[in-house]
Amino acid sequence: MINDLIVIGGGAAGLCAAVYFKKNNPTSTVRILEALPRVGKKLSLTGNGRCNITNKEINLSRFHGENVEFAQYALEKYDRFFTEDFFGGIGVNFVFEGNKGYPASLQATSVVDCLRFATDELGIITHLETPVTNIQIYENGYKIISNKISFITKNLIIATGLLSGGERMGSDGKMLEILRKADFKVIKLTPAIVQIKTETDIVKQLKGIKLNANVTLGENTDFGEVLFTDYGLSGPPVLQVSRGAARVQAPQKITLDIMPQTNFNELLSILTARAENLKKRNLDEFFTGMLQKRVGQVLLKLIGCRLNENVATLNSQKLKSLVSLMKNWSFNVTGTTGFANSQVTAGGLDTNCFNPTTMESKSNKGLYCIGEILDIDGDCGGFNLQWAWSSAFCAGDHIGKTNDNN
Ligand SMILES: Cc1cc2nc3c(=O)[nH]c(=O)nc-3n(C[C@H](O)[C@H](O)[C@H](O)COP(=O)(O)OP(=O)(O)OC[C@H]3O[C@@H](n4cnc5c(N)ncnc54)[C@H](O)[C@@H]3O)c2cc1C
Repeated sequence: MINDLIVIGGGAAGLCAAVYFKKNNPTSTVRILEALPRVGKKLSLTGNGRCNITNKEINLSRFHGENVEFAQYALEKYDRFFTEDFFGGIGVNFVFEGNKGYPASLQATSVVDCLRFATDELGIITHLETPVTNIQIYENGYKIISNKISFITKNLIIATGLLSGGERMGSDGKMLEILRKADFKVIKLTPAIVQIKTETDIVKQLKGIKLNANVTLGENTDFGEVLFTDYGLSGPPVLQVSRGAARVQAPQKITLDIMPQTNFNELLSILTARAENLKKRNLDEFFTGMLQKRVGQVLLKLIGCRLNENVATLNSQKLKSLVSLMKNWSFNVTGTTGFANSQVTAGGLDTNCFNPTTMESKSNKGLYCIGEILDIDGDCGGFNLQWAWSSAFCAGDHIGKTNDNN
């Protein structure tokens, strides 16, 4: 039997593409082949279990890739309103917290459930524990091979994701090897939206402490709550700026401005007045009431103070050094916590091999790649799922238009 569409990968993009295509082409035969015992495993864990499903500010500046313009058509045509309509139609209503969109249930599992219910209602056949191990070009289509079963299809969507989340989420990247052998070019993979490892002498002393800061790594800056850990730095702004950490070879630094609302001179005046007011205290209590106590003590030690000395020893030179450190506290980056801990993989299939208005391969008619497997990744905040949805709609629409499936 020749299928109209086979989708490899029952994750965010694959489920969305199958449901969208089958809704518009109800008499077609559609199968999803999923390696794991259930679909949508990673999707069910997104957004700390709440699924940050989209963002109000979807624009190209929040996406990355060697040829990021590739994503523009799909993101604009199948935007967040289109996405909201589609999900409304399968039972998922959206709510927004600031710019970030979530399912109104605030449960990522409910998004998977609604996609799963829709596949059943539409008559999409899902094959679980069916890892695809090979793809062969067949007369006017493709032969898809998994263990002892094989399928023939006119159209093939590959939505197997990449390495983020690790193998427990079905992310082993093996599909990339199959496609590489079929002459698809691959852009180097690196983890993105990931914790940063630094030299540990200072961060270990502050393990568990959170503070608000402007965080800068390379060209990227973001504000929010930073968490010190025994391996380095974590927290939303660290994840947001992490993309460059694994790419650059040269030694690099991640820098915190822990007083972003106050400029150098203002902060110097504040600390000078504080030193005058608190001159009867010892330095170990100088920052008590202004900063997290342990952070204050570490800062003072870093500029060479002894904590059992009196506050009066803070001369103007030391106060300036303290302000410089608070505005520009640098840590040497030693790496990231790797693919398994990352939310998205930068790199992937070279988008030059695909048509941006359809997601179809330029060399293999009827073969489409969508979602994370392509060399497009987004910032933290719902951008990666929006890419999964937009690219899925784009492929689904094109297959519907070019095939007589109705
Ligand atoms: C912990 C975590 C939290 C995240 N939170 C958010 C968030 O809140 N908002 C956001 O926008 N993004 C988030 N992301 C990123 C987002 O989940 C991904 O960008 C998105 O899931 C990618 O969709 P995809 O369909 O391309 O891949 P996936 O969702 O990874 O799906 C790929 C599917 O293919 C299957 N598969 C793989 N190989 C084969 C094979 N050979 N044969 C058959 N099946 C195969 C896998 O088992 C998997 O089910 C998060 C990621 C992680 C890891």
